[in-house]
Amino acid sequence: MSGINASGWKPEMARIEGDAPTTSTGNRALMLEEPLIFEIGSSNTTGVDFADAPTHTSRLGGLERTAEMGIPGLSEAETVRHYTRLSRQNYAIDLGLFPLGSCTMKHNPRLNEKIARMPGFADIHPLQPQDTVQGALGVIDQLAHWLITLTGMTSVAMSPKAGAHGELCGILCIKAALDARGEDRPVVLVPESAHGTNPATAAFAGYKVENIPATPEGRVDLAALKARLGPDIAAVMITNPNTCGLFEPEMKAISDAVHAVGGFVYCDGANFNAIVGRVRPGDLGVDAMHINLHKTFSTPHGGGGPGSGPVVLSEALAPFAPLPFVHRDGGAWRLVEEENVGEDLPHSFGRMTAFHGQMGMFTRALAYIMSHGTDGLKQVAEDAVLNANYVLRSLEDVLDAPFGGSGPCMHEALFSDKGFAEGFTTLDLAKGLIDEGYHPMTMYFPLVVHGAMLIEPTETESKAALDQFIAAMRHVAGQAKAGDEALKGAPYYAPRRRLDETLAARKPILAWAEPAVASGSGNYEKPGGG
Ligand SMILES: *Cc1c(COP(=O)(O)O)cnc(C)c1O
Repeated sequence: MSGINASGWKPEMARIEGDAPTTSTGNRALMLEEPLIFEIGSSNTTGVDFADAPTHTSRLGGLERTAEMGIPGLSEAETVRHYTRLSRQNYAIDLGLFPLGSCTMKHNPRLNEKIARMPGFADIHPLQPQDTVQGALGVIDQLAHWLITLTGMTSVAMSPKAGAHGELCGILCIKAALDARGEDRPVVLVPESAHGTNPATAAFAGYKVENIPATPEGRVDLAALKARLGPDIAAVMITNPNTCGLFEPEMKAISDAVHAVGGFVYCDGANFNAIVGRVRPGDLGVDAMHINLHKTFSTPHGGGGPGSGPVVLSEALAPFAPLPFVHRDGGAWRLVEEENVGEDLPHSFGRMTAFHGQMGMFTRALAYIMSHGTDGLKQVAEDAVLNANYVLRSLEDVLDAPFGGSGPCMHEALFSDKGFAEGFTTLDLAKGLIDEGYHPMTMYFPLVVHGAMLIEPTETESKAALDQFIAAMRHVAGQAKAGDEALKGAPYYAPRRRLDETLAARKPILAWAEPAVASGSGNYEKPGGG
């Protein structure tokens, strides 16, 4: 294992072209090496110059810190350089195309960021008196109106803070609706291609999860679904477009069949960007659907940044929506926070969050929606689908496209590792793609396809950018099929070579300890060791 502490660069880690010498610093021109911040600074130095605190009487009852804090003291310039150097070792949406599927890493227009940073939105507090935050409440209400209109639904719960959180909200609405009917239905049906969050949500809400099989064309098997429907089914959770990048054309028939036995239809709307402005899920019989604002309406995600997962609800589920919500009384907006107050939602199942949701994401999403308008949003969907189909058709002669024969895809193109040389895997291809200057695509998901590669270019890439990416893909696909041994060693040009990703994921070393103290504890590995 080369150290996952990421500090142990050795010259032999980089394959230097031709007779290029190794450098004395380990740097390669603009590719700068960077140690850990603890290895640069020392807790004996400080970057700031505070006068000693005057003597005072402690009110901490003997709990005050006596030992050093143990954080490195760096000057502002040293700190800025450290993090800037690290950031240059990363791949970012502002550097190039992100082919990740099922994840829609979008361009984040600077306009959205500017609006979200306006002090009237950015500097307010959720506990401020409501008459001082009328503009912010107005933003929530206006975004809610757009989401309801675009989906053809009755109401929307704005507070959930991510897609998975929205799923939980929707399933809890369904549970509350069934409770109100006095029905105990223990089972939620989920297609086998579903995103992992779907079965996790249903299980978390106390349901037993059963799989619905897929047809060879990658769609829900309607006959198998119908055969399983009955009075024990609380809901089906269906992603549309699904995680194979395909539209479920039988969605209305699925909804009708589920409703006929008294169940509810949950739609995972993470892929709404493929159909926004073209299809209204409400018309397909959906009862609840979360919208990942951070996947469809441009707000940044990745790196664990804030998400936002409002859930649109049908007439049947609207009465059970969580608190709080924005209500307009005459000219003023009001955040309804109490249950059972007058006519305000006496059946609400409770709360998902302490406050009203992710304000910064609301502001960004509304700015994005308003700058596109209804016609622009429709074009977003059309261009996203066009770009994905361009990738699909440009690669299907070099990569196996398991559903390529069943018509166009939606917003993402799916390939398998069929046809790779013996011993060559999707992982090898992905590592080769890093050397070509691209972040790899989503790999090994969905599970229904062997060695899956899921590519979602999104609507913001130009044909020129797609052509460059396609050329890089064709090259590495050719290497994988030909069994080019060089691919096995990739990446050669990344700051680190092949890391033990399983070990890094299973046993991450998240806390730094003085090497001297930790040498026997196994808590810290010497740079470049092993
Ligand atoms: C991303 C995604 C989710 C989960 O959304 P988060 O915001 O990451 O919680 C659920 N379903 C699908 C299909 C997704 O792509």
